[in-house]
Amino acid sequence: LGTSLRSSLDTLQGKTRLDEDDVEEIVKEIQRSLLSADVDVSLVMELSDSIETRALEEEPPGGTTARDHVLKIVYEEMVELVGDSTALPLEPQTILLAGLQGSGKTTSAAKMAWWFSTKGLRPAVIQTDTFRPGAYDQAEQMAERAEVDFYGDPDGDDPVEIAREGMEATADADVRIVDTAGRHALEDDLIAEIEEIEREVDPDRSLLVLDAAIGQGAKDQARQFEESIGIDGVVITKLDGTAKGGGALTAVNETGSSIAFLGSGETVQDIERFEPSGFISRLLGMGDLKQLSERVERAMQETQEEDDDWDPEDMLEGSFTLKDMKKQMDAMNRMGPLDQVMDMIPGLGGGMMDQLPDDAMDVTQDRMRKFERIMDSMTDEELENPRVVGQERTRRIARGSGTDEETVRQLLEQHSMMERTIEQFQGMGEGDMQRMMKK
Ligand code: GDP
Ligand code: MG
Repeated sequence: LGTSLRSSLDTLQGKTRLDEDDVEEIVKEIQRSLLSADVDVSLVMELSDSIETRALEEEPPGGTTARDHVLKIVYEEMVELVGDSTALPLEPQTILLAGLQGSGKTTSAAKMAWWFSTKGLRPAVIQTDTFRPGAYDQAEQMAERAEVDFYGDPDGDDPVEIAREGMEATADADVRIVDTAGRHALEDDLIAEIEEIEREVDPDRSLLVLDAAIGQGAKDQARQFEESIGIDGVVITKLDGTAKGGGALTAVNETGSSIAFLGSGETVQDIERFEPSGFISRLLGMGDLKQLSERVERAMQETQEEDDDWDPEDMLEGSFTLKDMKKQMDAMNRMGPLDQVMDMIPGLGGGMMDQLPDDAMDVTQDRMRKFERIMDSMTDEELENPRVVGQERTRRIARGSGTDEETVRQLLEQHSMMERTIEQFQGMGEGDMQRMMKK
């Protein structure tokens, strides 16, 4: 799936503008990826509408290709959809865990306790499950593995009583994590029980624990727990399996909350704090969009700050001077080295680079820096009209820039090559141009 999204993005390579077909194609691929990751249909539709509108309305800024621009839009809209991670101050607090049986509450309680202990806090797990046989032993063993305080009562039969005793018994702890019983389905007694525990321990936050494989069922669960105890965040477990966890977004949406932690294995260390970019990449089956998005952002800002009204299209009117070339190179530079930018898009890095002539890379790296130094040593007159640069000036510029005459000549050649290309564009009518751009 990620592969077909990538390949439809690859067809945008070299384009500066997107047409409706391009956008429709990309949006369809994104929909396919998200639906197969269990993201709710109506969420997918909302998201794709926003992407479509923005991709068609917003112009790729100078120095940015249509492909990078659309990737940035996709990333931003996905961030909007998945949200930031649930705020978790590193201070004393009580956290209540809710969820159905088997969702991963007991495992997550120990994992979270371990996580807080790595942050220098003293955590304790309080086990209140009197419903499931063996619940006490399982929780005790996991707390031992996490090397954290533990309270439970193997013979108790009143979860609220155990919760009260647990809060007292763990008075020395900073962070108390209260594990609760689950049921196979949302039964009334489960809801009544967790409501009572909630009143007893008065948690600072309540987290809903969901299996990554949950699909449409997330909605009802989220609504019920939200109504009974209020949900501040979601923990997605079992992300080490094949499920991508998109169903949890339904719960996030339903509860107006966010994602707190991701679980990815059976040991107490298999936990990570939720972080949008990794999760987004996983949902889309693509590499790190965040870094790319940030680079595009930086390139945009700097281009705007430096030269408010520079538009690549201006090159198509009037003459293409060395100043224009310099601006173009500056914009490229801000994106970072070309090969790095490409490497961030998996599946593209190696293949694309092989197709580029060796020379092309040279220009973007070492030679580009030399070219910039050369242009800094040139007068305004020379930059506006490079034809005045003869033998003598070449020598002066080479000396002034600490390069050599050969490199100065290469720069002038590169410029006149680009100038010729631009002149060909200028010779065409508006319609021809649009067609060329789309190729
Ligand atoms: P609870 O009923 O909600 O307390 O769920 P448990 O914590 O007992 O977990 C149910 C099962 O899922 C156990 O076999 C756990 O080992 C397993 N489990 C929990 N979290 C993860 C995870 O992130 N990855 C994997 N692979 N298994 C998990
Ligand atoms: Mg349990």
